[in-house]
Amino acid sequence: MVVVVDKNLPQLKVEKIIDELNKFGFDVHRSTGEKYIILGALGVQPGFDIRKVKMLEGVVDVFRITEPYKLASKRFKADKTLIRINDITIGADEIVVIAGPCSVESEHQIMKLAEIVKKSGAKILRGGAFKPRTSPYSFQGLGEEGLKLLRQAGDTSGLAVITEIIEPSHFELIEKYTDIFQVGSRNMYNYPLLKLLGTSKKPVMLKRGMSATIDEWLMSAEYILAGGNPNVIICERGIRTFDTTLRNTFDVSAIVSVKEKTHLPVCADPSHAIGYRDKIIPMARAAVAAGTDVLMVEVHHDPDNALSDGPQALLPKQFDEVMKQIKAIAEIIGRRI
Ligand code: PEP
Ligand code: MN
Repeated sequence: MVVVVDKNLPQLKVEKIIDELNKFGFDVHRSTGEKYIILGALGVQPGFDIRKVKMLEGVVDVFRITEPYKLASKRFKADKTLIRINDITIGADEIVVIAGPCSVESEHQIMKLAEIVKKSGAKILRGGAFKPRTSPYSFQGLGEEGLKLLRQAGDTSGLAVITEIIEPSHFELIEKYTDIFQVGSRNMYNYPLLKLLGTSKKPVMLKRGMSATIDEWLMSAEYILAGGNPNVIICERGIRTFDTTLRNTFDVSAIVSVKEKTHLPVCADPSHAIGYRDKIIPMARAAVAAGTDVLMVEVHHDPDNALSDGPQALLPKQFDEVMKQIKAIAEIIGRRI
């Protein structure tokens, strides 16, 4: 941490600031410039609230130089985190594709979609059983029945499965059926849920909150890591901005910037970011070109009758087309699908 102090501050008061910094546990290195005294406060304290220093008399400004998270940081662990599920490795050269419907709706629907997405090259089947819907009157998911059907479809087709957990009381039930937990955008700040997922042996895909900064998102990942679960995938799914043309704003730049900060594998979800089927294909290409480790898209064979997110579901032939296109892009950047 760098503490900028007014150069005209009486010596005794400067010493008082140094004293306080020592009391907070920092070693202090002092240097004097033309206008300011610069105090280098040395010692990594991830949870330290820098306002405690900002409030001291004579302090002009304070800058953090280490991130507020540790376990999620590349400085703490330089090697990329690899997550293994059966024969799939997430975070390596291969870009892993997750596909399937927004919600599990029926046995026929999920079995059919498992077959469709598998044939085009997806490795993981998605499908919500507990849905966090904006309206309480919208379809809320099939609950345990949906979990059973998802598991059955995964096992029959040879795909791993991912499904969303929306509250702590569902933890044991969902853990029984899923290979990967998904934490949705709305729950990125649900710290009790994140703590609980830190105790699981199963990987967690943590979506970015719709108005979360990159550091807030990584702080949420830190909760899961700090609980003892090292297998976290972080997922960009679009953020809220001033523009409302599309469902959200797909922050492709986050794929690049978050990778500079963390060793965790990154997923991109253009479906929830864009919200309109025809515009998802170019954004899936962009995500792969930007270096995502995982791509997640929603696919439905009868989107007009889907119980949630029909307008953003790719038709099977569109999904097949996306897979062909991203294979070509992956090859150019030294990766594969
Ligand atoms: C979903 O994946 O179906 C979902 C609800 O996503 P998000 O949390 O990104 O809105
Ligand atoms: Mn959805």
